[in-house]
Amino acid sequence: MTEIHRPLRLNLDASALVQNWTVLSQASGGAATGAAVKANGYGLGAREVVKLLSRAGCADFFVANWAEALAISDLVPNEQIAVLNGVQAEDLAAAAESGIAPVLNSPLQIARWKQAGGGRCHVMLDSGINRLGIGPDQADAALFDGLQIDILLSHLASADEDVPQNARQQSLFCAMSAGIPCQRRSLANSAGIQLGADYHFDLTRPGISIYGGIERPELADALSQVVTVEAQLLQVRTLKRGDSVGYGATFVCPNDMRVGTIAIGYADGYLRGFSNRGRCFANGVVLPVVGRISMDLTIVDLSNATVGEGDWIDVDFHLSTASAQSGLSQYELLTSLGSRFTRHWS
Ligand SMILES: *Cc1c(COP(=O)(O)O)cnc(C)c1O
Repeated sequence: MTEIHRPLRLNLDASALVQNWTVLSQASGGAATGAAVKANGYGLGAREVVKLLSRAGCADFFVANWAEALAISDLVPNEQIAVLNGVQAEDLAAAAESGIAPVLNSPLQIARWKQAGGGRCHVMLDSGINRLGIGPDQADAALFDGLQIDILLSHLASADEDVPQNARQQSLFCAMSAGIPCQRRSLANSAGIQLGADYHFDLTRPGISIYGGIERPELADALSQVVTVEAQLLQVRTLKRGDSVGYGATFVCPNDMRVGTIAIGYADGYLRGFSNRGRCFANGVVLPVVGRISMDLTIVDLSNATVGEGDWIDVDFHLSTASAQSGLSQYELLTSLGSRFTRHWS
């Protein structure tokens, strides 16, 4: 069968990904460094990410749920995969068959795991995010009796900011974890690594910064963009002063101008926040987005460019710039990337 052409391309830089993980690993000092690969590797493609990082020496992969765990379970030893969202009654069969360990988050999940025979597991302590995990008032020693805990973890709520909550969570995690037998302790995400050695414990769990996200200044210069986006130019037209562009006519041409329509829209994760604010490039020339983003299409100002139908246009997806343009977080930008891209690793 002929391969179907797609007018939309994600270029993924494998060496930038591995380099970012290595930077985070070095910044983690003596602690081992894992990788959060949930949400399909933050939208990049979990399988390729796991293969690359595994080769680079990463031996702990964090996913959100059991479907995500099974989707990578042929790539690495199962003891290297941890399921962050825990284990529901419906997950016990998948857990037993795969040998993959859950992160137990509540007294009920702990009871369920013990009743199902126990075995190696991880436990999340809630030190103040109040999301998932055993809270300080629930953490009596008897609860953990008989568990084979590998990783005892907690999660920081505000590590991207310099606020007293970070130190409070760090010391509460120290206090809570002191009496609980485990193989390894883990607290820091990407931003937490940059808070210093007191936050590293035995294992760190970066996600966003592996994929080029910059949440704190410390490593900003050392991390590089992994994802670039290109869309094909589908049509070009010349408009008159006063003509309007796109749904809702939110852009009105101030002069006669040439515009072009490219093959990316909000269904691809190029969300409406980019309307009249995003920008593209062609041979280094800036092409501002004009009008509202449609489901499958975006219109750009071609006044200063000499491109034509069929040419490839670079969409500015530099994470901090695109975040400022769209109002989306760097996490949202990556995890919203849709399924219509050709994902091209090089
Ligand atoms: C997503 C997640 C991480 C990774 O966080 P980043 O901010 O992307 O580095 C680490 N730990 C837990 C529990 C998570 O849910």
